[in-house]
Amino acid sequence: MEQLSRSSITVRGIVQGVGFRPFIYHLAHKYGLHGWVYNSSGGVVIEAEGNVMDLSCFIRDISETPPPLAHIESLEVHSALALQGDKEFVIRESSAEEGDFVPVSPDIAVCPDCLRELFDPQDRRFRYPFINCTNCGPRFTITRDIPYDRKHTTMRDFRMCETCQAEYENPFDRRFHAQPNCCPRCGPKLSLWDRQQEIECADPLRETQRLLKEGSIAAIKGLGGFHLACDAANDEAVARLRSRKLRTFKPFAVMCADLDAVRQICEVNAEEARLLQDPRRPIIVLQKREHGSLSPRIAPFNRSLGVMLPYTPLHYLLFAESGFSALVMTSANMSEEPITIGNVQAREELKELADIFLVHDRDIHLRCDDSVAWVQEGRERFIRRSRGYAPHPLSLSVSSPGILACGADLKNTFCLSKGNLYFLSQYIGDLENLEACRFYEHSIAHFERFFRIEPTVVAHDMHPDYFSTTYARKLRAKTLVAVQHHHAHIASCMAEHGVDEPVIGVALDGTGYGSDGTIWGGEFLVGDYQEFMRRAHLRVTPLPGGEAAVKHPYRMALSFLYSRYGENALDQVPALRERVREEEAGVIFTQVERMLNCPLTSSCGRLFDAVSALIGVRDSVTYEGQAAIELEMIADRNVTDAYSWHLWKEQGMLVIDTWEIVDAVLEDLRAGVTQPIIAARFHQTMATVIAGVCEMIRQEGGVQKVALSGGVFQNRLLLERSLHALRAREFEVLWHQKVPTNDGGICLGQAVIAARTGIHKSHT
Ligand code: ZN
Ligand code: ZN
Ligand code: FE
Repeated sequence: MEQLSRSSITVRGIVQGVGFRPFIYHLAHKYGLHGWVYNSSGGVVIEAEGNVMDLSCFIRDISETPPPLAHIESLEVHSALALQGDKEFVIRESSAEEGDFVPVSPDIAVCPDCLRELFDPQDRRFRYPFINCTNCGPRFTITRDIPYDRKHTTMRDFRMCETCQAEYENPFDRRFHAQPNCCPRCGPKLSLWDRQQEIECADPLRETQRLLKEGSIAAIKGLGGFHLACDAANDEAVARLRSRKLRTFKPFAVMCADLDAVRQICEVNAEEARLLQDPRRPIIVLQKREHGSLSPRIAPFNRSLGVMLPYTPLHYLLFAESGFSALVMTSANMSEEPITIGNVQAREELKELADIFLVHDRDIHLRCDDSVAWVQEGRERFIRRSRGYAPHPLSLSVSSPGILACGADLKNTFCLSKGNLYFLSQYIGDLENLEACRFYEHSIAHFERFFRIEPTVVAHDMHPDYFSTTYARKLRAKTLVAVQHHHAHIASCMAEHGVDEPVIGVALDGTGYGSDGTIWGGEFLVGDYQEFMRRAHLRVTPLPGGEAAVKHPYRMALSFLYSRYGENALDQVPALRERVREEEAGVIFTQVERMLNCPLTSSCGRLFDAVSALIGVRDSVTYEGQAAIELEMIADRNVTDAYSWHLWKEQGMLVIDTWEIVDAVLEDLRAGVTQPIIAARFHQTMATVIAGVCEMIRQEGGVQKVALSGGVFQNRLLLERSLHALRAREFEVLWHQKVPTNDGGICLGQAVIAARTGIHKSHT
């Protein structure tokens, strides 16, 4: 006699919006099981009954052969439930339970099945740029509301034709419940415009290809916003794009036709190749090859290049039969404003930048910039975690009561959390203009609605003048938790590694508001989520003119020089005297002398800036971090010796004498040592400082784990040397893999700190 059994199975991880329910439906049919499956806030929930053996095969197959985009984090089975005698297996509507959220999937690159159809002349979607299925296509960026149904997306204006509707309703079709499902008959259409009007043409795509070939700059509507594109091999076009964008040196990202095309211009290792082809399709920063066929203006003074592969059907069509091996694809925006998303807005805002506009009538509801990552020691490191990743949550062991963490004002992202889930927003950008601030507020409102989180605790940076701080304070009724910037950096690194014990935190960045009101940025902290102590920092140095010193690293160089040598400062670096006008140097010296608009800073970023300017690499920057990046780029990788350095103790605090390090740099400079060697020695020195100071702190307190965070650790060379030096002393080192090491990761740290301290605060 057949032995029947019933089990409930809960699958957690990336299991929604990736064709998981049809997959379960198929499996249940294969094994003749009855019951149901549905999407809940806690994951995919299944109940199935049937033959015991079939049931166990069913469960085995779920864990062993999930759909390609699924990532199962856990599979929980309860067996031997009471039999219900279901007559069939059904897919139940996903339900949003009260107080629960319905997951929203990130946007996913077009899948191999759809690509095959896209280029199959027999297929009804041949060359249709909006082809998608359950396994691929737009999600987050077209979602207006939850639950994720067509009527809640920007596809609601398109009525499915009969054929599409039949696919949508057929559980055996790979477009079953694919919300953006459409075809050339019923779906969105492309159109091509110049600055005045629509360009009459039979095929907007082929016309775009032709115009790009001729050197035009095109604004192309993508998934999360517009790109500005031009032929990456056309030096004149790239130069024109640079001058129009007023972007003198900041590297452009390129999109390559395929992996082979990437390999022609960059070195690609196995992990990099995997990430380039990942369905999330981040931009991966790769090592440039010498003498590729690209315009040298794409990433000047840089050894690396940001590269991505096509991710929408439209991108694939752009490359098909075109002969392009790479196109520049840079976010389209006016100055520092958020990426452009609307058609009309694009033609208005980008009219000075683009010659032509390739648009379509599927609206982008939520802006989402490309993600940017690189690979170090075989692991993914984020510069920007956005498209493809947001709004997928991080699952942490620290439980949260419902928190909004507002982030920092640069490279802003925010985080909403509830329970063990932490939803990090897409990249918002610098909260420096009205548009960005609006985008920020708008996105927070969206996230609160999507994930049904009404935060009771709001965490923000300690900086009193941040927009994000002002925003947090406006939310009056809530418990506010002000989090020190570098504490948040370190906590975010701990959190993503699930570390919940005291660590030595090395937080190196450009600027962060310190607990004592000065500007920090070269910090060694000891602490956990609840609290921290500042144990060591770089020696403070005046920052002449505040922001002006950030834009003009030579000001920082002069500040170091004057602090050390007084009136004779310029004699130390004759070359600098030739580059900086005597009067201006005089003004800066007076500023430093009288401490006029001259806050003190322990910033490590500014130290890198100063060294870069002192040795003649970069005096003024056209994008953030440029001086430090170029210093890293020229460093001779074969040089491994360091300058000697010292520190002193001041009321229990270790102070690292950076002036002495600058002295050593000057000495090399006078001795005629080349820039690449000085740059390398300086990097090595900072790595030995990091390891040496951690050692002293360990000897006093016994803490064995070190967390590295802050924007300075985007410097690959410094990170590599620091990891090496710390491991040589047998430290266990935590460094970011899931969120950016720059301020884009701050919100996660704020959230966990608030989760631990916020509830307590609300009672005091
Ligand atoms: Zn597909
Ligand atoms: Zn259709
Ligand atoms: Fe920072």
